[in-house]
Amino acid sequence: MAIHNAIQVSCPICATKVSWIPEQRFKPFCSERCKMIDLGDWATEAHKIPCESSDLDQDDEAL
Ligand SMILES: [Zn+2]
Repeated sequence: MAIHNAIQVSCPICATKVSWIPEQRFKPFCSERCKMIDLGDWATEAHKIPCESSDLDQDDEAL
């Protein structure tokens, strides 16, 4: 059954098998939808944490 040599991974969101190939733009996700779901989780997590150090490195911009 070795039609493709591509490694397959499971989508972290819905566990669909995803071929690890350049054409699979959303890997390791199966689709843009699952990628956006994951990014949404990240954004939600980030929203809980105050950005205390957001401008610590701003002084280096003059370089
Ligand atoms: Zn998925």
